[in-house]
Amino acid sequence: MDINKVIKSAQDKCKIEYGKELSNALAWQLHNSLSESIREEIGGKWQELKIMSDKNRKAYYFSAEFLIGRSIQNNLLNLGILDEINNKLKDLNVDFGILEEIEDAALGNGGLGRLAACFIESAATMDIPLDGYGIRYKFGLFKQEFQDGFQIEKADDWSKYGDPWSLRKYEDSVLVKFSDQNVIAVPYDIPIIGYKGNNISTLRLWQAEPVNEFDFNLFNDQNYDLAVKEKNKAEDISRVLYPNDDTLDGKKLRFRQQYFFSSASLQDLIRKFKRNHSEDLLDFAKYNVIQLNDTHPTIAIPELIRLLVDEEKLSFESALDICKKTFAYTNHTIMQEALEKWDIGLIKELLPRIYEIIKQIHNNFEEEKKDLVKNKIISKALSNRTKIINKNTLHMAHMAIYGSSYVNGVAQIHTDIIKSDVLKDFYQLYPSKFQNKTNGITQRRWLALCNRELSSFISNNLGNENWITNLSDLKKLEPLSKSTSIIEEFSNIKQIKKHQLADYIFRKEGIAIDPQSIYDIQIKRLHEYKRQLLNILTILYMYNEIKSGNLNNFYKTTFIFGAKAAPGYKRAKSIIKLINEVGNLIDNDPLVSSKIKVVFVSNYNVSYAEKLVAAADISEQISTAGTEASGTGNMKFMLNGAVTLGTLDGANVEIVQEAGRENNYIFGSTVDEISSISKSYSPIDIYKSNPKVKAVLDMLIDGTLKDGKTKGFKELYDSILKGASWHTADHYYLLHDFMSYVETRIKVNSDFSSKYEFRKKCYINMCNAGKFSSDRTIQDYAKEIWHV
Ligand SMILES: *Cc1c(COP(=O)(O)O)cnc(C)c1O
Repeated sequence: MDINKVIKSAQDKCKIEYGKELSNALAWQLHNSLSESIREEIGGKWQELKIMSDKNRKAYYFSAEFLIGRSIQNNLLNLGILDEINNKLKDLNVDFGILEEIEDAALGNGGLGRLAACFIESAATMDIPLDGYGIRYKFGLFKQEFQDGFQIEKADDWSKYGDPWSLRKYEDSVLVKFSDQNVIAVPYDIPIIGYKGNNISTLRLWQAEPVNEFDFNLFNDQNYDLAVKEKNKAEDISRVLYPNDDTLDGKKLRFRQQYFFSSASLQDLIRKFKRNHSEDLLDFAKYNVIQLNDTHPTIAIPELIRLLVDEEKLSFESALDICKKTFAYTNHTIMQEALEKWDIGLIKELLPRIYEIIKQIHNNFEEEKKDLVKNKIISKALSNRTKIINKNTLHMAHMAIYGSSYVNGVAQIHTDIIKSDVLKDFYQLYPSKFQNKTNGITQRRWLALCNRELSSFISNNLGNENWITNLSDLKKLEPLSKSTSIIEEFSNIKQIKKHQLADYIFRKEGIAIDPQSIYDIQIKRLHEYKRQLLNILTILYMYNEIKSGNLNNFYKTTFIFGAKAAPGYKRAKSIIKLINEVGNLIDNDPLVSSKIKVVFVSNYNVSYAEKLVAAADISEQISTAGTEASGTGNMKFMLNGAVTLGTLDGANVEIVQEAGRENNYIFGSTVDEISSISKSYSPIDIYKSNPKVKAVLDMLIDGTLKDGKTKGFKELYDSILKGASWHTADHYYLLHDFMSYVETRIKVNSDFSSKYEFRKKCYINMCNAGKFSSDRTIQDYAKEIWHV
């Protein structure tokens, strides 16, 4: 790439658009000028690659979420020009660092959306033909602030200063029809630049717009109001990301969003197919394979049938057959309440034709099962349990499995559970459809970019940079763990990252933390199953122990939390308030505040995660065994050299397999133990028999901690000891794992004093993180599911 040309172009843009030199431009002005220049510079090649790859078999990732984060630094890194641009700008007196102010594109809630972003980047890097399709939400995941320790949500108008990486392609718009409204889906294309820029894929995000162009002259006052209403109603469809990553919101609008982007994407694929292959759609599945990221885009199955039957005049049978070959489905959850279901009435009302087709799919499936029941291959009961439509409810996962070639879980233990539990009926029906694809993360963003110091160290010791596209090379560094100078150098890098994080937290939050303390970090969406409540309650336990003199020699620790709670999720918001109150309690206690600091960082997002994972000593992965499908945060920490303090859940199991149990801190019940005690579990017995646990829980209700009169803390107390109308007492087994967690926390704390041995464990974790590259994951999908 011609860097001088890019800089010159950025200078011109900045002058013309904003009347400024790059050196006195605001962050967003510099960002727009520079990003647009780069996008234009790669534009020709991007287009050529697209035209070529469209001619061959290609995979498409349908996802309601893409949690991209900030693109500029990553794109420069992947183009191999990060340092050069940085230096050139320095010569021009431009502070490249101000680009840290650029807001994240947060078009996703958490892990599922971030996975989608890692996948398309890895596919581009690995030369796997994969494009993404999703929704261009006007407002991404809300921005979080704290007021008096409570979460406050602010709208995330992420593109208000422009969106220089997107290319509006109005000419590729398509019409999407509902019973009560028609809207135009306008695509915005984002280039996904593979490492070294050899390959560029496309993330196509759809924006909903009204069908009728505004012509203000044509409207009298009354029509004008109507037209405004119509416009708003259309734009509503892509206005907000639902800030909810695991329970069904139940709103019509959410359903409209799913259909909107599924339909638009399929219409786009059919148009491309006709252009590149044939007017006859029979061969559609030969050239297209679509991965459904959870059930959110599953409405694409009946929609493809509708397009093939109604518009392309294929028979229902061939259309269904094409679906079964085209789609593959990724399951992301084992929690019953999170399995997506829709009311049939709603579908009938909004999409009557789609309803008919779903009914036909359902009937077809029932017919197929009849023979199996007759021949005693399956039971009648199993046949009933697997219905696509049952009691006026559409079971999205059932339709997804029936309409797909493959179903996959996202970590080995998760796949085992869906086969033996959640989806066991379907496993009996279609054993060969089931696969495991353990999640991964891209090492470009999650090491090369976020930890340049560690990257240089790795490259220097390996003698090359091959690990950037072949992460298992890290294993070659493991023998060096015997060298004291290597471990010391590695340890010094961690210390640099800890200082950087302390500086950042001080600037951002106004909170001072001690870089010499242990950084013990839990960052992820706030949810009961992730057990942030267990974390904070055991901190209270240790607080009490330090105060009463039972816990001497406690190594000073900073407990860092980062998490957003869905705005309607009351209990999660009470947990945030509780963590902040415990932080205050400790700050005001001179005896303990020299040992413990609790910090809740605000507005946790991808860019914050990049700083936190690089600086962590301890990675908290403490979900109830059997609840976290995989987790990917755990992998980011491991890659940056932290030990995992966690349960045997999700990918933690594989992390420990790779890096050794002796180099991590595993505690708590296993999946089998939980299921064997579940019937007899009595948290109140633990409360009554362990006075120290009782003392901690009582702090929630005895006035020690103030919840601002919301009664939120009492509600948390009751959730553990009494349960609620919708769940039994302590349904995530906090008290059951409590003492095991406390003991392990104290063990890791004391191990940290032998700093050298501790850092060695961290180092060995890093060396064994190769498996968790999304490059590996995506290659497995390509080979075993997509056949591309
Ligand atoms: C990686 C990531 C997640 C997922 O974290 P888990 O610990 O796997 O739940 C969520 N949010 C952001 C911003 C991330 O970067």
